[in-house]
Amino acid sequence: MNTLVDAFGRQITYLRLAVTDRCNLRCTYCMPAEGAAIVERNELLTFKEMYRITRVLSELGVNKVRLTGGEPFVRKNFIDFIKMLSFNERLDEINITTNGALISEHIEVLETLKIKTVNLSIDSLDAQNFAKITRRDVFDKVWDTYEKLKNSSLKLKLNVVIQSGVNTDEINKFVALTKEEPIEIRFIEEMPFNGVGKRTTNEVWNFTKILDEIKSVHSNVNRLPIKKSSTSHMFQVEGYNGVFGIIPAYTRTICHDCNRIRITSTGLLKNCLFDEGVFNIRDFIRNGASDDELKQLFIDLVAKKPKDGFVAEANRLKNKNVSESMSSIGG
Ligand code: SAM
Ligand code: SF4
Repeated sequence: MNTLVDAFGRQITYLRLAVTDRCNLRCTYCMPAEGAAIVERNELLTFKEMYRITRVLSELGVNKVRLTGGEPFVRKNFIDFIKMLSFNERLDEINITTNGALISEHIEVLETLKIKTVNLSIDSLDAQNFAKITRRDVFDKVWDTYEKLKNSSLKLKLNVVIQSGVNTDEINKFVALTKEEPIEIRFIEEMPFNGVGKRTTNEVWNFTKILDEIKSVHSNVNRLPIKKSSTSHMFQVEGYNGVFGIIPAYTRTICHDCNRIRITSTGLLKNCLFDEGVFNIRDFIRNGASDDELKQLFIDLVAKKPKDGFVAEANRLKNKNVSESMSSIGG
């Protein structure tokens, strides 16, 4: 079988698919207060097109898909799409990243589908601070989702974007949650994908600073072995039930065994979060491409995957400074 291998021998097995560019929240690190510019509905991939793209990629060795956005649950009939995808026998895992404000009533049905893990984004444990970060008053709903997911058969990971002076004082409160709860918390370095560009901050909260902050409170932090192609470095406080990870999203020390590609909600293939999109798959499909042509296209595009996020950023032609909103890229 043909597979997707790049010039550095990395095999692509993981697709991150943004099912929409719309969102019900306005997180400060992701978009401006008025929201990111959204495209006309007919520019979004249809679910049929997403299904086809995923099927073709799965025939080339992709066995894991993350559904993201924008907020995936904002898109009408999203659950039906997951049901469709669940029929694809080649997929071992379908995971979702969500802000959790709209999903608590869907958890039972998600448990019956091929969903393995839900990544819930929750950047503060304080309702007021949460409202400041998301610019919406939905903490209670998200917390309800957290409780329900915790008690479900789905694996739960919490995503926490660390913003200087905004939630850094909560890092150890999140770690404290892992004392009793067998959950995984992932602290993410903030990236300039907010629709505006790099923000000026007093301090840079990178991987090392986040870990130092945790070690200043917990002296007994053990590093855990990580799976190949993992996005995070994993740790556990000795004796705690849960674990925590740190994702060096901006310092980019995880590129060497990257197994991921992204497809944005408008069908743009991204070999790397930091590239500006290398090809519009939607137009290729709408112009009548066959499955074989689509396969060859994916093989040719993946072969050009840049060595790492720094090379990808340097290669950008149109928008030299990375500043798109994560809601249009798909996080
Ligand atoms: N709306 C869903 C959510 O928030 O979980 C899915 C899409 S969101 C773009 C995916 C992930 O990207 C979230 O965990 C979010 O916190 C993260 N994210 C968004 N903007 C980011 C940024 N500028 N830097 C780092 N992570 C970011
Ligand atoms: Fe929406 Fe997720 Fe971006 Fe927040 S991070 S604005 S929830 S897409």
